[in-house]
Amino acid sequence: MPVERTLCIVKPDAVEKRKAGAILARIEEGGFKVVALRMARLSVREAEGFYAVHEARPFFGELVQFMTRSPVVIAVLEREGAVTVWRDLMGATDPAKAQSGTIRKQFGANVGENATHGSDSADNAGKEIAYFFPGVEVSPTA
Ligand code: ATP
Ligand code: MG
Repeated sequence: MPVERTLCIVKPDAVEKRKAGAILARIEEGGFKVVALRMARLSVREAEGFYAVHEARPFFGELVQFMTRSPVVIAVLEREGAVTVWRDLMGATDPAKAQSGTIRKQFGANVGENATHGSDSADNAGKEIAYFFPGVEVSPTA
């Protein structure tokens, strides 16, 4: 697997529960290098833009409201196979369906408030990293 980067967001529910540090520890223990990190309170416009692919879904308004209600922690993660490995470590979108040992199983509340985001492809990872870290090189460091 090539070394690549993916975008992680620790969502408002997990930051509110003060689990951002625990989640970042799981990420580092999972062999990822955190190569960029910032905390932000997303604006409605930023959240709508980020999740634009879900614009037509019935939960879109709820999703934007959730993602903007309090701060998030946004990180760029690097390792071999980062996109797939991070999705596997997060677990299924619905925490009730996530495997034991996954972050969403441990920290997620329900299908909407599920603790973390992860890019779903290398292509989207590049776009999402550029969206939140416009100055960061997408190609991995040695
Ligand atoms: P993410 O993109 O946040 O990593 P995902 O790729 O597992 O999650 P998506 O289908 O892309 O899942 O949905 C994006 C987000 O929208 C979910 O993580 C969740 O917060 C919210 N969401 C998805 N389905 C529902 C639903 N049925 N009801 C409420 N919120 C939902
Ligand atoms: Mg998704």
